[in-house]
Amino acid sequence: MADLGGAGEPPNKKIRIERTLFNRVRTLVNSHKNVLSNAIKKLSTDQWVTFCFVRILNCNGAYPCSFSRAWCETIRNIQDPTVDECERFIVKFPSIFNIALVKQFLDFSDETDDSTFSDNQLTALQRLAVFLDTLHETNTIMEKQPIKSFKESGWAAFLGTHVLSKLAVSNQMTIDCGYTDKTTTCPCGCMTPIHVGDNSMGHEAVWHGSVDILLGPVAIVSSCPETLSEVDEERSSAFEMKIGEIEESRNQVIAETIVFSFTQKSGLVPTICVTRDNMKILMYDPEFDLLYESSEIQLFEPLEGLKFNLTTVVALWLAINYSHFCTGVKPSHEKFGYTADFKRIVEKAFPIYNEGMKMGGCKHVKSTIGKYKAPENIGKFPSLDD
Ligand SMILES: [Zn+2]
Repeated sequence: MADLGGAGEPPNKKIRIERTLFNRVRTLVNSHKNVLSNAIKKLSTDQWVTFCFVRILNCNGAYPCSFSRAWCETIRNIQDPTVDECERFIVKFPSIFNIALVKQFLDFSDETDDSTFSDNQLTALQRLAVFLDTLHETNTIMEKQPIKSFKESGWAAFLGTHVLSKLAVSNQMTIDCGYTDKTTTCPCGCMTPIHVGDNSMGHEAVWHGSVDILLGPVAIVSSCPETLSEVDEERSSAFEMKIGEIEESRNQVIAETIVFSFTQKSGLVPTICVTRDNMKILMYDPEFDLLYESSEIQLFEPLEGLKFNLTTVVALWLAINYSHFCTGVKPSHEKFGYTADFKRIVEKAFPIYNEGMKMGGCKHVKSTIGKYKAPENIGKFPSLDD
């Protein structure tokens, strides 16, 4: 028989510590059980947020180009006329994120093995529970802010401070130093310090530039029109949702998603795009060359001012903590084979993406490589006769 006693003190101690964290998180999460179960149920359907696949038909990713000038012509598999209608598949949220595990935690019984949950997953659940505990305060802070007058970067810093970083296991948040307001505290006046740094990535010879927020291993892009006066007067009446804002900056977000994923080299990596009303998750896996794009989801409850939609909060929480909950590309997704075709499109530049990507030190630099120069033609050439 194996010796269970005697020298068994260190493992016992470890189990006791783990159980302490587990029990603490269980207590915290339990008070939000109904809300979370409801959100999980919604995320499991195809009625809330789903993903489709994106194929790149053409892009300027093989040339020295900053994100702000990145363009790509794309098609989604669900709109592709060359794909048979019965094969226009979408991917449900639980196909990429381990929602079953969260459900298992919520439905915990004596038979459930608590070692199923890693410390990071428990910490993530703890962050979510604490965020929900203090949601009322967050809502109050939000309602006092002239959110509509925040510039794009200000909105990113505010949302990052009061929402995104609170949901993240890794709460190391860096706002890009191109951030125009040049402040080191949250723009709402709460005096929370923000870390400002160089969020640039990529390579000068191809797509490169900065993302607004880096939250541990997650890139967050804020996309809000800067000319707000007219748009916002229209919107302020009922905080009416405007679908399509992300669509305008989609080219840039796709470039950022692909570049960021190549820098991370950790499989399926998300880039989250937020506007003042909506969010969208894009995910790219360089190995399988699959680009997933979520539908746009509303940040707030319709007609309830700035009250967060809790299903969106849970989706955002899962995406932010993807390294603990993302299950990666499924064999069925690979088999479906609607690839982004990025490698084929950028051809000779592909090795730069595969081996030469870097984090930091590649802001919008002026590159001389392959720079286009218009020919001098004034007064130099004879003209054709009429
Ligand atoms: Zn603040």
